[in-house]
Amino acid sequence: DPRIHGIRTKIRVVPNFPKPGIMFQDITTLLLDPKAFKDTIDLFVERYKGKNISVVAGIEARGFIFGPPIALAIGAKFVPMRKPKKLPGKVISQDYTLEYGRDRMEMHVGAVEAGDRALVVDDLIATGGTLCAAMDLLERVGAEVVECACVIELPELKGREKLNGKPLYVLLEYY
Ligand code: 5GP
Repeated sequence: DPRIHGIRTKIRVVPNFPKPGIMFQDITTLLLDPKAFKDTIDLFVERYKGKNISVVAGIEARGFIFGPPIALAIGAKFVPMRKPKKLPGKVISQDYTLEYGRDRMEMHVGAVEAGDRALVVDDLIATGGTLCAAMDLLERVGAEVVECACVIELPELKGREKLNGKPLYVLLEYY
């Protein structure tokens, strides 16, 4: 798809952020270009429209940028998957491993119900731990995860292999 190349040119790579040796894929420059941002959303919407997805689960923080416009366009509810202690209601939480250390993800109880068909959205998959935690939360409340969708995949980190065979759709790969 010719739109993919345009999207790639708008993503900025920032060396040594947030620490030395890390090449950070910065999607904020994509958001500055309405055409490229819209193309990004449209590509996901074209893929998921008519697939009976009832919930888009967006991962804090950049899944909150891409998830809601996709949810609105396909007629699904949007549910934020948040860092600890941000959600005011009763939560279900999942601990997971990061490259360095551990973290926790939380979701409101009652936001997702048994039988919901979920799409998990984030900007980027690296090791896959974050998407895994989100899928665990959704499956623990009885939802079916249909697919995970990210703008960017870093294939060298083999995150896809951590998803237990769950399909992952990405627009761009960075090596
Ligand atoms: P993982 O759990 O797959 O190792 O890491 C993915 C999470 O870290 C995502 O929530 C993503 O937003 C964030 N992340 C890791 N590296 C990058 C990066 O280079 N650019 C951006 N935008 N996010 C990153």
